[in-house]
Amino acid sequence: MSYQMHGRAPGEELLVGPQQRAWVEINREAISHNTACLKRSLAPACALMAVVKADGYGHGAVTVAEAALAGGASSFGVATLAEGIELRQAGLTAPILVLGNLQQPEEFRCCLHWRLMPTLSGLGQGLICSQVGAAGGRPLEAHLKLDTGMARLGVAWEQGPQLLEALSALEGLQVQGVYSHLADADQLEGSLTRQQQQRFEGVLQRLQDLDLQPGLRHLANSAGTLSDRSLHYDLVRVGLALYGHAPAPHLAQSLPLRPAMAVRARVTLLRDVPAGVGVSYGHRHVTSRPSRLAVLGIGYADGVSRQLSGRLEVLAQGQRLPQVGSITMDQLVVDATALPELEVGSVVTLLGESEGDQIGPEAWGEICGSIPWEVLCGFKHRLPRLPSRRGH
Ligand SMILES: *Cc1c(COP(=O)(O)O)cnc(C)c1O
Repeated sequence: MSYQMHGRAPGEELLVGPQQRAWVEINREAISHNTACLKRSLAPACALMAVVKADGYGHGAVTVAEAALAGGASSFGVATLAEGIELRQAGLTAPILVLGNLQQPEEFRCCLHWRLMPTLSGLGQGLICSQVGAAGGRPLEAHLKLDTGMARLGVAWEQGPQLLEALSALEGLQVQGVYSHLADADQLEGSLTRQQQQRFEGVLQRLQDLDLQPGLRHLANSAGTLSDRSLHYDLVRVGLALYGHAPAPHLAQSLPLRPAMAVRARVTLLRDVPAGVGVSYGHRHVTSRPSRLAVLGIGYADGVSRQLSGRLEVLAQGQRLPQVGSITMDQLVVDATALPELEVGSVVTLLGESEGDQIGPEAWGEICGSIPWEVLCGFKHRLPRLPSRRGH
């Protein structure tokens, strides 16, 4: 027997449509709306870079990039070369900054070919870029990164002016921007943020004294963007807020952002059990009364952390139902006793909005000691990404 078939195989639509067991829904309009809200909150001359690393925080990088452009973003930030190339292959032409650290000459040649801007933290990288640009017949554009207090990437801020001077003298390299990254951006006063800002400004002042052009100056992530205009400079690099989430509770009201992701699953089985029945691995839950249990076809292999076991709620037909017992690799169990209308095939919302209620990645983060960034980019590609539809 052959598995090769002509035309559409039976059930093929189950693999792509929302009939399947579980999926991630992406609301492009929400991303455009969030981008537009953020852009309006900036000074007119300040540009917005949409940070779409990690597959657009799990939303799909190309989907997000297109939606963000429609909302007023003018450049993209990615973490890796492959992420930049994916955007170029999708036909996106806006400037792309690679936020991660590249080292190999081959990587910089790739940057030149695909018009991706690497981040430079030292002279060694600049020399390679210079050779690559000179050999390629056009300058390689790059941004210089300063370490002002994050101790991750970047040249020590005190050495920034000297390094920019050296880089500016190199043929085949064009420094298009100078930036740094905030380590604690949701705290402002008397803080690390102010110290980092002072160091950044100290470098900018010194560059002016030396008559060196920094190009685009940028410092703020989502938290910096939402908390203080003096952190904006020429460009802000926004990730989390694009996706509709606040980087800290006290920043949640600053703009009317809309969450762009929902995670939904179908009930695959319902069973009625008596009191005293142990549920799932280890029987970490035992029913205290006759119960109706609903099985959902989604588990930790999809990105629903096992640490949420027994502490999660899901939304179904306007109600919140408790998840019970250990979350398993591919499935989890919900106590649906309170909702007799629930049927096999009914759609349940794990994350996102449903019938006026909503559960955000912030709530998951609080339960399992994580943060919204990690929750969002934790949904695996086993879950198809579908455009959002109304009516769940
Ligand atoms: C990820 C990242 C951002 C975006 O951060 P958010 O908090 O998601 O807005 C900005 N800048 C750099 C360098 C990053 O790595």
